[in-house]
Amino acid sequence: MKPGQSQRGLISLALIALVLVQSQPAAAWGNEGHTYINRVAAEKIPPTMPRFLRRAIIEIAYLGPEPDRWRSPSEAALKNAQEPDHFIDLERVAWLDPLPRTRYEFLRKLYEKRAATTDHPDDYLPERVGLQPYITMEVYGRLKAAFREYRQLRAAHQPTHAVEQAIVFYAGWLGHYVGDGSQPLHTTIQYNGWVGPNPNGYTTEHKIHGQFESTYVAANITANDFAGLVKSPERLDDPFAAYVAYLRQSNGLVENVYALEKAGGFTGKGSPAAFDFTTHRLAAASQMLLDLWYTAWIESATPAPAPEHAPSAPATK
Ligand SMILES: [Zn+2]
Repeated sequence: MKPGQSQRGLISLALIALVLVQSQPAAAWGNEGHTYINRVAAEKIPPTMPRFLRRAIIEIAYLGPEPDRWRSPSEAALKNAQEPDHFIDLERVAWLDPLPRTRYEFLRKLYEKRAATTDHPDDYLPERVGLQPYITMEVYGRLKAAFREYRQLRAAHQPTHAVEQAIVFYAGWLGHYVGDGSQPLHTTIQYNGWVGPNPNGYTTEHKIHGQFESTYVAANITANDFAGLVKSPERLDDPFAAYVAYLRQSNGLVENVYALEKAGGFTGKGSPAAFDFTTHRLAAASQMLLDLWYTAWIESATPAPAPEHAPSAPATK
């Protein structure tokens, strides 16, 4: 190959890479933020929880961005099915308070609302509204069930290596969604550029999302910057209610993100106010994640009722 050819080859490769990078859907907190959130939470696992989990910091940190690895068009079915798991537009479900506790109950309410709506009914499609709290509680449930298996195997003096691997995976996977939930722009219709009435003149460009959660965080923040803000875990009385309250708190901070952007807080080295805001959002995610792990562990000590199976005998025809 002549030098000119190989140079042209390199340039076209670089162009392809650039296109790929630019077409990536915005993924809350980017790779760095998600990794930090999981790592900081894992470092705070208390000695009352299993030692294998406290030793799995590297694995749990690796799993922080895991669901963002499921968004490639090369796995189209997976991409399509799981994309709504990363967000919820709380403004679109303001009429639905409290939120139903299960996925299919939520879907039913949305389709009812859509059927009764004439103005933009498709705004109530589940894939437009987002399913954030449901995937979070489902992965939480998997973790709790796995902790229960672990306790039973230990009590029976059986090997626990396999269930330990499952627990580490669920704990890390859970961290992704909890991380998404602390990013205000993952809880709102103001996802990436202000829509609707805009008296404060916030940016309407489709840039703020990635600029805040990926570019700014990667360039200016490390795990050590917010680890000190995370306290020992507390047991959550009602994990679903606590998690929805956490999402609502995030949603209450949407305008702060836009105001910080407007003031140049996320440009280049950013501002002290942007640093303070962002480290507190990252810490809120690690705290909620740690509290959910801890609650799942404590609750897993309660024996589960017998699993419900499909009805044993079909009705007589
Ligand atoms: Zn995500």
